[in-house]
Amino acid sequence: MNTPLPIPSRAHTVSVVSNADLHCHSTLSDGTLTPEALAQRAVANGVALWALTDHDEVGGQQRALDAALALGLPYLTGVEISVSFAGRVVHIVGLGFDHHNTALIEGLHATRGGREQRARDMAAGLAQVGIHGTFEGALTFVGNPELISRTHFARFLVEAGHCHDVNEVFRRYLTEGKPGYVEHRWARLGDAVRWIREAGGAAVIAHPARYAFTPTEEYALITEFMAHGGQGIEVVTGSHSAAEAVKYAQTALEFDLFASRGSDFHSPEESRVDLGRLDGLSGRLKPIWQVLEHRVHWPACV
Ligand code: AMP
Ligand code: MN
Ligand code: MN
Ligand code: MN
Repeated sequence: MNTPLPIPSRAHTVSVVSNADLHCHSTLSDGTLTPEALAQRAVANGVALWALTDHDEVGGQQRALDAALALGLPYLTGVEISVSFAGRVVHIVGLGFDHHNTALIEGLHATRGGREQRARDMAAGLAQVGIHGTFEGALTFVGNPELISRTHFARFLVEAGHCHDVNEVFRRYLTEGKPGYVEHRWARLGDAVRWIREAGGAAVIAHPARYAFTPTEEYALITEFMAHGGQGIEVVTGSHSAAEAVKYAQTALEFDLFASRGSDFHSPEESRVDLGRLDGLSGRLKPIWQVLEHRVHWPACV
């Protein structure tokens, strides 16, 4: 009997991949599933190219990579960096970098640095409106002590009965002008893009529709991002409506940016869009994973 030989890895090509999911979160940041559970879920949902993109943290990359390859799932390294730009927080996704790169690791470490003090200040703000013990409460939801986030506060406030779901917590307590919101200085745009690029990866503007920028501010973001060497923009994401995806497909074409696609999955209970369960990119767009062909980690046989 003839057993088919495994296809050599160099014969693989990402240009045929359509179900790429290049944005999601694990217990290393504010997701509720481990990197291993996410890899299994990605495979079960038909994802053909995957990246785990924890906030300001690459500590889960080796686990995600090992789990993906063991399941026959091609993998790109990933991260989502918090950046301060024009008085707002912008997220920059990095893909296909060397996750052992020292400058990237140190830059992310510094970016995570202020989170504990920020969380204490958030708790003080919430105490002023009569909600006590939220720092300790949020910590019970934290998987990575360096990455206490607003999401962990939101989960605690739901558990404690203050709100029905995390969206309501954000709306009432955790967004600008609300009692638990604390201004914070995140990474600079140029630094975030440089860390990613110098580690061999590509930088992507995450969920551009979420920033509520004026057209002038958005133009400044995109042009400054590109001037620093940024190459991509998320078009189809769990954080965009269908209309927003159409709008940012146009933006990608206008600025000649590569397009990215990712669910931004955080949790089976909270996320609207599951891993791999989102619309395809329009055929007119250039997928970001085409420039990352040489950065894909391929399983020994697919
Ligand atoms: P942080 O980095 O601590 O400011 O937390 C930001 C995270 O909060 C985002 O990555 C989302 O996961 C979550 N988030 C932000 N806004 C909302 C919202 N309106 N509803 C639910 N989750 C949100
Ligand atoms: Mn998040
Ligand atoms: Mn984000
Ligand atoms: Mn995200």
